[in-house]
Amino acid sequence: MKKFFIVANWKLNGNINMISSFFEYFQLYALNYLEKNTIVIAPPTVYLERVYKKIKKMNIFLGAQNVDIHLTGPFTGETSILMLEEIGAKYVIVGHSERRLWHNETDDLVAEKICLIKKLNLTPILCVGETKIDKDNGNTKKIIKNQLDCILKKLGKLAFQNIIIAYEPIWAIGTGISANPKDVQLIHEFIKNYIKKNDSSIKNIIVQYGGSVNIKNVKSFIIQPDIDGLLIGNASLNAEIFLKIVKTSHDIF
Ligand code: PEP
Repeated sequence: MKKFFIVANWKLNGNINMISSFFEYFQLYALNYLEKNTIVIAPPTVYLERVYKKIKKMNIFLGAQNVDIHLTGPFTGETSILMLEEIGAKYVIVGHSERRLWHNETDDLVAEKICLIKKLNLTPILCVGETKIDKDNGNTKKIIKNQLDCILKKLGKLAFQNIIIAYEPIWAIGTGISANPKDVQLIHEFIKNYIKKNDSSIKNIIVQYGGSVNIKNVKSFIIQPDIDGLLIGNASLNAEIFLKIVKTSHDIF
């Protein structure tokens, strides 16, 4: 059965108390809503193992927010995919606009990370999306096509097998201004068609939307046929709010 794919990106937020109370609440109330949802929690690296201990018996998955391109060696401050695999991570977010912006991550670097993540059989969650200027100039599809082409160039025709795509318009992330769900539907259709054009053997492409999703607007995204999941920042930090989102998708999907 196809499930709705929800990822909580905690970014640089959370602490030990927050994690305890978040999962106390989740253990009490979330179990009924996991049948139709795949849930991934992506905490800061230092809390990955702590979160894994909480979720491993709950059918919730662990995601990392980033990974280095090296497996081991003199790379101070970095985290290897081998380490992520060892502690139970299944997914890795790559190409988030905050990493592209604040850490100068290029499309080429993102492609290299995806290559490595796939080699180790973890699943990359590739973020793509346009700036406000790109949008206003009508360049959204062009920008996304370029971002996808870079991955195709590095990984070849089968690049998008076992990858999740997150369409995240940069202007919508953390701003409280979400994209119009009907516009998002069209972009998701474009992404899926473009991927299928390059790889006719691909099945089940998952494209998530991310950008200021909250309990008020979540339904309008879930009902779009090509929105297969959500990547959620702010609204994933509060267990009660996050669970309302999870419940909404369970009731609709
Ligand atoms: C994100 O960080 O990917 C995100 C979508 O954040 P927010 O939900 O806060 O806009």
